[in-house]
Amino acid sequence: MEQDRAITTNAPFGGVSLRKVEREAPADGQALLSTVETGICGTDRGIVSGALGFSYNPAGRDYMVLGHECIARVASADGEGLRKGDYVVPATRSGGGCLNCLVGRPDNCSDNDRHDAGVTGKDGFMRDSFVYSTSDLVKVNDESVADVAVLTEPMKNVMKVFDSLSHITKLSVYHGKDGTLRSRRALVVGTGCEGFLFSMMASDAGYITQIVNRHDISERQKRILDTFDVDFADYSRPGALQGEGVDLLVDTSGDPAALLGMLRHVRPNGVGVCFGTNENVAPASMSGGDIINIVEKNIVVLGSVDGSKKHYMDAVRQLSAWRKCRPDAMKQMITGRFRPENTGILLARQPGEIKSVISWQ
Ligand SMILES: [Zn+2]
Repeated sequence: MEQDRAITTNAPFGGVSLRKVEREAPADGQALLSTVETGICGTDRGIVSGALGFSYNPAGRDYMVLGHECIARVASADGEGLRKGDYVVPATRSGGGCLNCLVGRPDNCSDNDRHDAGVTGKDGFMRDSFVYSTSDLVKVNDESVADVAVLTEPMKNVMKVFDSLSHITKLSVYHGKDGTLRSRRALVVGTGCEGFLFSMMASDAGYITQIVNRHDISERQKRILDTFDVDFADYSRPGALQGEGVDLLVDTSGDPAALLGMLRHVRPNGVGVCFGTNENVAPASMSGGDIINIVEKNIVVLGSVDGSKKHYMDAVRQLSAWRKCRPDAMKQMITGRFRPENTGILLARQPGEIKSVISWQ
């Protein structure tokens, strides 16, 4: 039996090790995939450190293969129009029996009976190869995007939020006098990979976009944001926030003090999106004035998790467009490529990191 290298943890206790696992054989309706690259995000590091109490191993096992951000190549498949050598991105979530899952929207699962690869009860993609249901694979039609397609999984979260915004912003007149969003302002809190992708997308949609954190960022990070016309500010410094208020707030920090503070900057009929989560952060209290602010301004506070297969497809298209018109900035988003043996990369964020990637080939 052939063996693969795999990066594993013991959820929810944590830890990380590189071990040998048996290579899986595809059944009907499955493809065998060779992993090209896997991305590392805060969720992976949270599982490894034991901070994500909701994470658990596949049934009957004392380990789980990590990793939910992946670009792979088809080694063998039948169905879904896949051919050997095709680049694909696996959709991470497997649905259960609720109505949302049954109609292809496990991202909106309503009874929690679902599994996320590398997070909750289902092996992830940090291994040399894996088998996956062909119906849960998204084909990357444009091969020139393959070197940044590991960003598809984080990007699909962004596409879902903008899909939701297209509905929410119909509740009032949200655009400017010229019918576009070019006079509208977006504020993104947090400068991790998701913060970058949200701010790039907001700017692309027309918003005057600012991204903020409570510390400075690297010159490389500033250059990427510059390419996308996104303004960065360190908001630990007084006067860093643009003063006019914002129409779209996206919080990727999960810090309630940051969220509550920033919601006070949202203008009438604006939207505050909660995306980031963090259980280990200090609580913050909400005042009557905060509720008055939300009520009197018709502010929509939107929680959003994951995305559907359609959002993965949208993400591939968006990354492909950016890869064509801003190739250097897009390649700079991958701030480090590491070997699977270098499991230490899963222990701590790298200085100036946007996306650290493990290369399997
Ligand atoms: Zn469900």
